Amino acid sequence: MPGPSDARITAGLAEIPAQVDVLVVGLGVTGAGVALDAAARGLSVLAVDAHDVAFGTSRWSSKLVHGGLRYLASGQVGIAYESAVERGILLRRTAPHLVRPMPMLVPLTGNVSTPQALLTATGIQAGDLLRMAARTSAHVLPRPRRIPAQHALRWVPALRRTGLRGALLYWDGQLEDDARLVTCLARTAVAHGAVVRTRARVTEATGTGATLRDELTGSTAQVTARAVINATGVWAGQLATDIRLRPSQGTHLVLRGETLPGLGAAFTVPVPGSASRFIFALPQSDGTILVGITDEAVGGEVPDVPEPADAEIDFLLSVVSASLEHPLHRGDVAGAFAGLRPLLDAEGSTADLSRKHAVVTSANGVVTVVGGKLTTYRRMAQDAVDATGIAGRPSPTADLPLLGAAPAGELARIDAPARLVRRFGTEAPFVLATARAVSGRPDEELLSPGPRGVTLAELIFGVSHEGAVSADDLLDRRTRLGLIPADRADALALANQALELAGS
Ligand SMILES: Cc1cc2nc3c(=O)[nH]c(=O)nc-3n(C[C@H](O)[C@H](O)[C@H](O)COP(=O)(O)OP(=O)(O)OC[C@H]3O[C@@H](n4cnc5c(N)ncnc54)[C@H](O)[C@@H]3O)c2cc1C
Repeated sequence: MPGPSDARITAGLAEIPAQVDVLVVGLGVTGAGVALDAAARGLSVLAVDAHDVAFGTSRWSSKLVHGGLRYLASGQVGIAYESAVERGILLRRTAPHLVRPMPMLVPLTGNVSTPQALLTATGIQAGDLLRMAARTSAHVLPRPRRIPAQHALRWVPALRRTGLRGALLYWDGQLEDDARLVTCLARTAVAHGAVVRTRARVTEATGTGATLRDELTGSTAQVTARAVINATGVWAGQLATDIRLRPSQGTHLVLRGETLPGLGAAFTVPVPGSASRFIFALPQSDGTILVGITDEAVGGEVPDVPEPADAEIDFLLSVVSASLEHPLHRGDVAGAFAGLRPLLDAEGSTADLSRKHAVVTSANGVVTVVGGKLTTYRRMAQDAVDATGIAGRPSPTADLPLLGAAPAGELARIDAPARLVRRFGTEAPFVLATARAVSGRPDEELLSPGPRGVTLAELIFGVSHEGAVSADDLLDRRTRLGLIPADRADALALANQALELAGS
């Protein structure tokens, strides 16, 4: 397992290499994964983002590492199998510190007919066959089973009791935080030799290089490369004009834990009138609950930060309330966020291509990798680097632990605050030691829990090692306090203190 690493992400273009093997554009989960894949194969890499790590879609996901149940439902067995394999790799080898097994319940309420329940149970059993095919043991992801109503109420006490016939219980993967996975990937790429820069926008690209603009100073630079990989998600068409995307918006609500007290498992509620759509309620390790998601086609210019529509919020509240003893109201919504799925618009086809990823080499030589999902980022990265034709050796990333990775037993023995271990794995003591060295402040101050448990120590490390240069970086991406505006406001002073102490 990797030890602590002094690997640092930094901002701007100062001292970037003028020539590299691979220039990676975009530091979402895909671009960060590509940077790691290429660097781990011994290629020289510069990877940049116009804004920040995890600025785009990657921070707006449901934070699930899923085995592809919904792809099975639509007969896409290949994609489902790929998801199940990647889920196993993340859970067991590459990121067991950031991805954990999560129980998921399908409550059999009055809204779920017996044929619907049978169909869902069959799908869940097929998902379990995929788990076995992907060689993920039942010790890691227990086998699904049907449980009686009393057991279901123990997992989800807020369920409506009338008509509850029991529940289907299965297990899937959940991320500690999607943006944290991206940051960890990017630092792991640095540890393997990549140069990773935020606030560095590519304004023009070809297959042999690009023009970059430093978004802090306005200065520009030229970089030549043997391959340029465009991993800019919903913005991919701006650099490769022959790529057309048809984004679709997905919105989540953020609830405080006390809104659904005692929630010990995720649960799903069928969308009325649809055989294949469900709304999830997902408890998070910081005590919040995400409720999502919608799926709305959107047109026009791609915004930097998409906004949830009022109608989406009402829709989510009404669907989830149908399964609850006490319906939810607008006042229960502590926050809401939206993300855009980078769906590829295949000529003449409306097929759901997006959920498969695509690697496309444009006429100008730029290699674009787009679509897919967070769960399959590693495979997407491998395919993109293979497509450049310059990698002399096969991808080693299926067996390459990310910084901080260790089995659960080892993580449990680490002598550091639980929150830091949850978010940094074996690097937790190094995060604290760095914060002490950088700030000279006592542990009581560095570890005093702020809103939702955030600590000054991790904010300082965000500045010293993770490239944060603003309170937004710290509150919206290195931590996720920004998902609840009131918590964001409460933590602003702490974020500014971290920036000052770490000298940014
Ligand atoms: C609502 C929702 C829920 C989802 N839930 C899940 C889930 O639970 N599990 C799962 O596996 N998948 C999920 N997905 C899918 C997954 O989130 C996406 O497929 C994935 O995050 C896309 O990552 P990306 O790196 O390709 O794009 P992005 O994360 O959007 O990254 C692109 C980056 O490129 C940068 N960029 C753009 N233009 C330039 C430029 N010119 N120069 C430099 N940088 C640039 C942007 O700033 C951005 O950071 C979900 C998607 C949505 C929308």
